[in-house]
Amino acid sequence: MSRSEELFKRAVERIPGGVNSPVRAFGSVGATPRFIEKADGAYMTDADGKSYLDFISSWGPMILGQNHPAIRESVIKACENGLSFGAATEKEVEMAELICEIVPSVEMVRMVNSGTEAVMSAVRAARGYTGRDKIVKFMGCYHGHSDALLVQAGSGVMTAGIPDSAGVPAGCTADTLSAVYNDLASVETLFETFPEEIAAVIVEPLAANMGVVVPKEGFLQGLRALCTKYGAVLIFDEVITGFRLGIDGAQGYYGVQADLTTFGKIIGAGMPVGAYGGKREIMERVAPVGPVYQAGTLSGNPVAMAAGLTQLRILKENPQVYTDLNEKGTWFFGEMRRIVEEAGKPWQVNAEASLGSLFFTGTPVVDYASAKTSDTAAFSDYFKYMLEKGVYLGPSQFEAMFLSAAHTREELSGVLELLADYLKK
Ligand SMILES: *Cc1c(COP(=O)(O)O)cnc(C)c1O
Repeated sequence: MSRSEELFKRAVERIPGGVNSPVRAFGSVGATPRFIEKADGAYMTDADGKSYLDFISSWGPMILGQNHPAIRESVIKACENGLSFGAATEKEVEMAELICEIVPSVEMVRMVNSGTEAVMSAVRAARGYTGRDKIVKFMGCYHGHSDALLVQAGSGVMTAGIPDSAGVPAGCTADTLSAVYNDLASVETLFETFPEEIAAVIVEPLAANMGVVVPKEGFLQGLRALCTKYGAVLIFDEVITGFRLGIDGAQGYYGVQADLTTFGKIIGAGMPVGAYGGKREIMERVAPVGPVYQAGTLSGNPVAMAAGLTQLRILKENPQVYTDLNEKGTWFFGEMRRIVEEAGKPWQVNAEASLGSLFFTGTPVVDYASAKTSDTAAFSDYFKYMLEKGVYLGPSQFEAMFLSAAHTREELSGVLELLADYLKK
């Protein structure tokens, strides 16, 4: 038995499914999870000493690669001053100023501890600001695991086939309306039905939790126009796309401004951090200035802020990181597409910048329904082949591949060769 198998045996006795987040489980691909001991650059090493080229980047945060020396040093330095104060610190001010400088639509921001919290709080702020209850979300988008948003959600619940989680009272989702991604008409219909009841439309501006699904031309602009017309708050959930598609996230990349934006993942550089922010008049509804209550014992934690600030500053001061990363992604996913086509397979490669997915379906994937046409058994076979060859992909058809600045073209070429070999099998 390998060390990972031994650890898994112990883990399942005491942790549900042996993992602290379902997306880490290998159950849906018929394997046991690798227990990771350490990571550096583009590689993770498991408890048996085997190294893997890392395509999850901790699900996005490690955009500069694992164990970045400057980030590590900033964390060590912050630790020397104490781990948490439960009181205001200078670093939180610096973080807020930096985010507002980077993301033009954000005038004020509140730090939290996860993407889930960021979204849950942004939705509350939008409801408090508009005095309305209903929210619109898109099938296949994932916005964390808060009750109101576990409706036909993506990511782990989609993998597990439980998009509407047990344990969520019907009352909690009664005001959640579902729309079809990339289908403006589906949103328009909801607004026509409830013209004065919709507080917010929340969307992943580039969907990356049903695999990667790119927004069609005009989709985000259309959402912007509908929200403006009906007085609803447009929330971009940029927990993945924020500071990834470019320094100013999907808003800069697609040229559409949200009213509220949620952040996570990259913002903490691997520490548990989330944030939500946007228009001053909405954010000033949040306590202690306004009546919308939201709080956090460890929010704005100094060690987490140090990590996030260092990563964001590096990204801001080195725009070349994005030029290189996005070019590398365009090349890599383009080559994947070419290899799949040459092998005569009908499969889809959806990609944008440093995010991409290979869907095992002949149907173009533009929304939740088309993503679900994928042959997940075929994905599992491919996943296991790649893992065996030392490539760590997300263990689900419905997760993205995340490239980081640490992946070299040589390493990526090696992966393309593996794919070509696999398709010849
Ligand atoms: C990961 C993710 C979340 C949830 O963030 P957590 O930190 O896991 O709570 C929310 N929205 C999107 C788009 C995500 O990808």
